[in-house]
Amino acid sequence: MIDLRAKPVLEIRRQALRDRVAARVASGHRPPKLCVILVGDHPASQIYVSRKEKMAGLVGFDRETIRFPGSATPEQVRLRVSALNADPSVDGILIQRPLPPAFDEKEVCLWVDPEKDVDCLHPENVGLLLTGNPRFLPCTPGGILLLLDHYGLTVSGKTACVIGRSLIVGKPLAALLLSRNASVIQIHRQTPDPASLCKLADFVFVAAGSQGLLKRDWIRPGAVVVDVGIHRLPDGRITGDVDAMSVGDSPSALTPVPGGVGPMTIQVLLENTFTSSIGKR
Ligand code: NAD
Repeated sequence: MIDLRAKPVLEIRRQALRDRVAARVASGHRPPKLCVILVGDHPASQIYVSRKEKMAGLVGFDRETIRFPGSATPEQVRLRVSALNADPSVDGILIQRPLPPAFDEKEVCLWVDPEKDVDCLHPENVGLLLTGNPRFLPCTPGGILLLLDHYGLTVSGKTACVIGRSLIVGKPLAALLLSRNASVIQIHRQTPDPASLCKLADFVFVAAGSQGLLKRDWIRPGAVVVDVGIHRLPDGRITGDVDAMSVGDSPSALTPVPGGVGPMTIQVLLENTFTSSIGKR
């Protein structure tokens, strides 16, 4: 079974990005700048945000994390985002999810200037993705495709099953797979008999946020399995949506958790921010 680790992919892509940033700076431009907005003190978000900041620093970016207390109003945060939209030294803006309940997710997606929306959540960017002309790659789905490319796994002409239909993973992932000529089955909570449908697939992408959901009887022997889920166990270990004990050696390739999809997501975020900086002073 192929262990679809992010590490070798990242070694290559991080170095390439570092080189491009250095070349940009050497030619008299400022480094790309990523701003992350964090509202509240969600423990996992704190970790993700500090990881993004660290990785941005490793490739030579300017970066800033703007923290708001959980009691901040949507209007306070929106005004700060507007200021970042207008700031010519900022290339990428990411609003860390989940947000407190007072925030309307659909509304928040409209706040970031589409040209700085490196998380690819603004309807304009989602539309560009669906019409086959993406401005930015959605971070997690884009990272998954980079991982598959590195390991020479091609979805074209194959059946792919996506479990989950969130705006951040399931929907854009299905769109990207379709654009690469996969036949896509999408499964969600209302899908009857999901295991039988999933078993039809050559590639299975599980992004349900349900620990250990994917069991051996859901997958066709030899399928490629990509685990997007992240769950922290009481003892601090991280696990995914795949029940690793149950699936055993049935897949032909499997992403580890941690060390698979997660780090690829941050890499795409940084590459999007670099793309956004091109052509700016
Ligand atoms: P979400 O809760 O927004 O969406 C989950 C989706 O899965 C929903 O569409 C729901 O219908 C479907 N679903 C849930 N349980 C199901 C079940 N039993 N059967 C069929 N469908 C089911 O979650 P999300 O934001 O898409 O995240 C999914 C998981 O991926 C989470 O564990 C999250 O932490 C993780 N995640 C990882 C990364 C990364 O970089 N690795 C990025 C984003 C999210």
